[in-house]
Amino acid sequence: MTKDRLMAYTFVALAILAVVTAVIWWPITQNGWSLGLTLLINCAIAVLTSVVLDALLAVVMKEKGPINTLSASVFGMIVALSYSLGMPAMAMTEVLPLVAPEAFAYVAIISSVGLIIFKKLQGLLGRKYVNPAAAAKLIVFLPLLHTVLIPSDHISYIPTLAAPLNYDGLTSFASYVQSCFANPSLLMEGSINLPPSPSDVFWTLLVNKYHGWPGGASSIAVIIIGLCLFIVARRYIKWRITLSYLVATAVMSLIMTGVYGGDAVLRLAFHLFLGSSIFLAFFMATDPATTPLTHRGQLIFGVGLAVLTVLIQLIFGVGLAVLTVLIQTYMNFLGGSILALVIMNLASPMLDKIGLPQPTETKVEKKLPKAKTFEAVKAYPCMRCGVCITACSQNLSPILIKEAYDRNNIEAVKALRADLCNGCGNCTFVCPARIDVRNSILRAKGALRAVKS
Ligand code: SF4
Ligand code: SF4
Repeated sequence: MTKDRLMAYTFVALAILAVVTAVIWWPITQNGWSLGLTLLINCAIAVLTSVVLDALLAVVMKEKGPINTLSASVFGMIVALSYSLGMPAMAMTEVLPLVAPEAFAYVAIISSVGLIIFKKLQGLLGRKYVNPAAAAKLIVFLPLLHTVLIPSDHISYIPTLAAPLNYDGLTSFASYVQSCFANPSLLMEGSINLPPSPSDVFWTLLVNKYHGWPGGASSIAVIIIGLCLFIVARRYIKWRITLSYLVATAVMSLIMTGVYGGDAVLRLAFHLFLGSSIFLAFFMATDPATTPLTHRGQLIFGVGLAVLTVLIQLIFGVGLAVLTVLIQTYMNFLGGSILALVIMNLASPMLDKIGLPQPTETKVEKKLPKAKTFEAVKAYPCMRCGVCITACSQNLSPILIKEAYDRNNIEAVKALRADLCNGCGNCTFVCPARIDVRNSILRAKGALRAVKS
C-alpha cells in the first residue's frame, strides 16, 4: 500500500458517495438550483481550489518531494461533503448559506482556509493537530454566530434533546425529524404523513435525508461504501475509531433514554444516522494525521468523540427555551460533532502514549502484507498511520523513535529502546509514505551507542 493508492481509494469512495447523494437530491430545487447539481458544483469547487492552492504553496514553500494532488483532492471532497446543504421545510427564511449560489463561495473559502492554515501551515509544526476540514469550517462560520442571535431561520421550533423523544403529535420529535430531513417537495404537497410512523422516520434517517451534510444524506450508502474502503485498506485505516464511536454513541443514547425517557430506538437512530454523525464516523474521525497512533488510543478517541458529541448536543438542548433554539440552530448547522472532533484531535498527542507495545529483546514474527515487487515509488512525509508500530518485530515504536531522533532528543530515543532494533526492515516495508524508517532507527541506535561510549 502506498499513500497515493490509499488516497486514490478514499477519493473514489467519496466520489461514489457524492454521486449517490446528487442523484437522490437532483429533483429538489431550491433558490432555482437543483440541490444535486449544487452538490456536484461544490465538489468541483472544493477539489479544484484545494489542488491548485496545494500545488502553488508547494512551489512557494519550496517543498521537496511529490505534490500531494490526491491528498488535496480527498480534503476538497471532505469539505464539500461536510458542508450543510438544503433548506428544511420548517425553515422560514434562509439566514445561513444552505443553498446555491452563496454555498459555492463558502465552500471555496473553507477549502482555502483549510488548505492554507490547517494543512500547510499546521504541517510546519511537525504534525497536524486538528482535522483541517473540521477546523476550517468552525473558523469560517464563527462570524455567522450573530445570525443566530436574530434568527429568521428555523423559527418554527426545534425540540430539545433533553426530553423524551417520541412520535405523538405534530410537535413531536419524530415530526421534527420529518420536517427537517424528509423530501421538502413532498412535505409542501402534504403527501408525507405528519406525525410520521416509525418506519417513515427510519426510512428518512437511514436511506435519504434532504438536508444537512451531503456526505451523510444516505446513511446506508455511507455504511456500505465505508465498509468496502475499510476492507480494502484494513491495515491502514483507523477503523477502530469508527467502531468505538458507533458503539459509544449507541450506549450514550441508551443512557439518555434512561434519563429522559421516550422511545429508545428513535433516539438511537437519530444519534447514529444523523448525516454529520455517520459521515464523520467513517470519513473524518479516521483521518490518520490527527488521530492517535496506537490501537488503544484510537478506541479511547472514538469513545471520547461519541461522548462529547452527544454531550454537546445535550448541553445546547438544556437551558432557556429561546437560547436552546438559537444555539441548536447554529450547532446543528455546524454539526456538534465537528467541535467534538477538534477537541479530541487536540487530545491525540496525549492518547499516542497510551497502549504503546512493550519493547522486547526477543524477536516477534509479525504478519506482513503481501507484496509482489519493490517498485520505485515517491516518498511523502509521515501520515501517522501507526502501521510501523504494529509491524515492528521488537515491539518498538519506530515512528516515535524517528521523531525523537529528528528532534535530537537522545533521552527519548533511549527511553523508546532504539537499542533493541534488529534492522529487520518491517517498518520500512509497511510504510505507505515510503519512508526509510529502518534507516532512521538504525541511525538513532548509532547515536545512542556513540553517546554511551
Ligand atoms: S527495523 Fe524497524 S521493524 Fe525492524 S526492529 Fe528495527 S524498528 Fe522494528
Ligand atoms: S512512518 Fe510509520 S506512522 Fe509514519 S507513515 Fe510510515 S508507517 Fe505510518
